[in-house]
Amino acid sequence: MTDVTTPSQTDVMPICGDDYPLTEKQQKLMALARQLGREKFAPRAAQLDRDAQFPFANYDDLRDSGLLALCVPEAHGGQGADYATYAMVSAEIGRYCGATALTFNMHVCTMLWSGLLSEDLDMTPEQRASHRQHQATHFARVVKDGAIYAQPFSEGGAAAAGAQPFGTLAVKVDGGWKINGKKIFASLSDAAHYFGVLCTEKKPDADLSRRDTLYLAIPRTAPGLTVEGDWDPLGMRATVSRNLVFKDVFVPDDAALMPQGLYFQAASRWPHMFMTLSPTYMGIAQAAYDFTVAYLRGEIPGTGPVKRRQFATKQIAVAEMFVKLEQTRNLFLRAIEDAQVDPSKSTRLRAYAAQYTIMENAQDIARLAIRTCGGQSMLKSLPLERLYRDARCGSLMLPWTAELCLDRIGRDALYEPGEKDE
Ligand SMILES: Cc1cc2nc3c(=O)[nH]c(=O)nc-3n(C[C@H](O)[C@H](O)[C@H](O)COP(=O)(O)OP(=O)(O)OC[C@H]3O[C@@H](n4cnc5c(N)ncnc54)[C@H](O)[C@@H]3O)c2cc1C
Repeated sequence: MTDVTTPSQTDVMPICGDDYPLTEKQQKLMALARQLGREKFAPRAAQLDRDAQFPFANYDDLRDSGLLALCVPEAHGGQGADYATYAMVSAEIGRYCGATALTFNMHVCTMLWSGLLSEDLDMTPEQRASHRQHQATHFARVVKDGAIYAQPFSEGGAAAAGAQPFGTLAVKVDGGWKINGKKIFASLSDAAHYFGVLCTEKKPDADLSRRDTLYLAIPRTAPGLTVEGDWDPLGMRATVSRNLVFKDVFVPDDAALMPQGLYFQAASRWPHMFMTLSPTYMGIAQAAYDFTVAYLRGEIPGTGPVKRRQFATKQIAVAEMFVKLEQTRNLFLRAIEDAQVDPSKSTRLRAYAAQYTIMENAQDIARLAIRTCGGQSMLKSLPLERLYRDARCGSLMLPWTAELCLDRIGRDALYEPGEKDE
């Protein structure tokens, strides 16, 4: 099957816009992501999507290019990318293969959370010292062994939405933890070497509490861990997000990706940590727009010489798409620059608004692209119908689904902390 993901123009619109002030490092990493995306990921995307197969070859490329260690600090041999740089690189990858970008998020952000982000959190000197040792273990696995980490948090209940403690439980035992429970939708389930699992520490004689959330890396080879279930979804098919079951799985103390109690602090103080799925969909929105322009200009190979750009309705539709794309891009860029510990209320609300806008506009831009380009554009030999299906998945991702973003904006805009109605 031929897949033409990129327009034939050699100079497509940069994901951050033409004049965005990228650092030298960002320029280098973005160029690398674009090259891999155009030359390697785009040509493979259709078959992986059709067969719902994980993009193993893309991950070999990410490993060989050093991008697997994007957010591993330079001192540990990684690229040392910060939050905004990760988001830009991820969006660039998302233009060419949504499933690769989405799974790249799970892996890279495990390193970001355990690394750069955790530097901003309060720890005792003892916690900091043991965290340093654990970090070194995880970073070395990625840099030296090329290991891939996943982020399976969802359980099908209210825990992944942040509303109750995780039902996957860890009990302290000699030298480590014993884990029992189940996770659903574990992207990278066929590929990850380690699953970064959120679970609740079950303390004797105490109720389960979100404050006791643990973040532990479980090796896929750990006895008692099984990957189960089918994977045949509408979109993001190459993420291969099957279920994980843990039955008396033991992990040693150095499996900790954050010290005890630190995940709860991170979730409360570093809200942008939950916005990291959205760059994938920024990339998809851009790809749907790029495709539409190239298609209407008659530049997509194999779609005939007919040009349709002369019709006013097409021009208006492209203009509408462009307006939505620019609204999306500008909120995206502002929110990724904002990301920091303890943001102000308005910054936090803007992060929800950015996530909502990116996830909803990606779908809308993909919808407009199909309506505007017409029937031939949704043939499976072209990427648009995949972009349309992949775009549909963004607003469903917990904890910041489109619904929950509105929920939080509405509540936080109307109530100050501690305020209640009679
Ligand atoms: C392609 C794909 C890949 C994924 N990969 C991963 C992954 O790697 N790791 C991972 O952890 N998860 C992953 N997920 C799961 C995802 O983050 C969600 O957990 C999942 O889509 C929720 O599905 P559900 O049917 O259980 O939703 P439900 O929990 O039933 O929620 C349905 C909707 O109800 C709303 N809702 C839920 N809880 C509340 C609440 N407490 N208050 C108000 N409204 C609420 C939300 O808007 C939600 O969209 C993936 C999902 C997809 C589609």
